[in-house]
Amino acid sequence: MSLPEPAELVPGLDRWKGLPAAQQPKWPDRAALDAVLETLSTVPPIVAPAEVDHLRSQLADVAQGKAFLLQGGDCAETFDLNTEPHLQSTTRTLLQMAVVLTYGASVPVVKVGRVAGQYAKPRSSDTDALGLPSYRGDMVNSLEPVLEKRIPDPQRLVRAYANSAAAMNMIRAYARGGLADLHAVHDWNKDFVANSPAGVRYEVIAREIDRALAFMKACGVDSSALHQVDLYNSHEALILDYERALLRVHDGRAYATSAHFVWVGERTRQMDGAHIEFVSRLANPIGVKIGPTTTPEQAAELVERLDPDGVPGRLTLISRMGNGKIRDVLPPIVEKVTAGGHQVVWQCDPMHGNTHESSTGYKTRHFDRVVDEVLGFFDVHRALGTWPGGIHVELTGEDVTECLGGAMEISDEDLNSRYETACDPRLNTGQSLELAFLVAEMLRG
Ligand code: PEP
Ligand code: MN
Repeated sequence: MSLPEPAELVPGLDRWKGLPAAQQPKWPDRAALDAVLETLSTVPPIVAPAEVDHLRSQLADVAQGKAFLLQGGDCAETFDLNTEPHLQSTTRTLLQMAVVLTYGASVPVVKVGRVAGQYAKPRSSDTDALGLPSYRGDMVNSLEPVLEKRIPDPQRLVRAYANSAAAMNMIRAYARGGLADLHAVHDWNKDFVANSPAGVRYEVIAREIDRALAFMKACGVDSSALHQVDLYNSHEALILDYERALLRVHDGRAYATSAHFVWVGERTRQMDGAHIEFVSRLANPIGVKIGPTTTPEQAAELVERLDPDGVPGRLTLISRMGNGKIRDVLPPIVEKVTAGGHQVVWQCDPMHGNTHESSTGYKTRHFDRVVDEVLGFFDVHRALGTWPGGIHVELTGEDVTECLGGAMEISDEDLNSRYETACDPRLNTGQSLELAFLVAEMLRG
């Protein structure tokens, strides 16, 4: 006797298949795709339902103002850079930021990487500057500017799965091992303070954390919480065939097992589209990006659709308005959603509304605008009495030169020295830590 199919267990699970799905690859060979999807439908999950449930309960705390959400990582991960040093440096940077934020907020920080699966990208145009089909992420085609390599290849879905599983395996190990030791993480932060041109500004917080650690030690506090953390993974749920193939039903609930948390992007959040329909069936906590054209009515409709039962933390609204717009666009959205009685996580993505082209021809973002959008986000929530629940940033633990400004004062001319991103410009380690210290100051009010 064969096991029941997920769609038999969860009514409506495959309704998305009858709806328009934006940003899907034009696979050249349906039979080859189907064979891959069949394989993926029986592989072991990348994340376990119990972990997903645990994250959902932690996000409920965020929605209720009792925790803060830190989410970050590459804009686009690549198979080539799915290496131990890369995973370690991303994890380390997230953990460093988290320590600073935990101290600033005096509440737990929920840590979610854009990692172990962020392999698919929505694109504004079907072709790139060279006239080639656009790169759509390593899950779909190759970044290499060669026509044949830009043709979507379903075998890449298998590689995405394998790379994600391997990466998540290491991340779980880091979370339990030395990388997550609070004392070690704090020592790295002290290095940053000592070596950053902006170090003096942060020395005060670093010294306070030092004293707090010394105090705990003197009191004999040595909980496992000081040596271990929970680390979750996330990505944009873009390629629906992939997400559906990795979906598993557990206790009658449909879990995307590709990641603990998945989100729907600004380009695929149509109310009558396949993406919103698909994620509406998931047991995972989910996010939706909301850009500067979002109306309060649209936001309210999204929330009704994706959080019909009013589960705190079920839905994260990730605003990415741009620093010039957030103070005007976000308040009526927050008011309308809050008036509807929903407890969502309000998260600020200060990256995607602040992209511009440098005079030297690079897609970039200025650190000052990133910081200003987060400041605007805090202003809005302070004024309304709601909780600024978290930040969502594109970052790397390496010393790249992709975003302008910061204490190193990266200029248009500096961008070419280490511009390495496969897609959008990321904050480098120093800029990420500076941002964390600044947000810690905002959280302390
Ligand atoms: C992203 O997060 O990389 C992204 C494409 O974001 P958005 O959907 O907000 O443009
Ligand atoms: Mn991006």
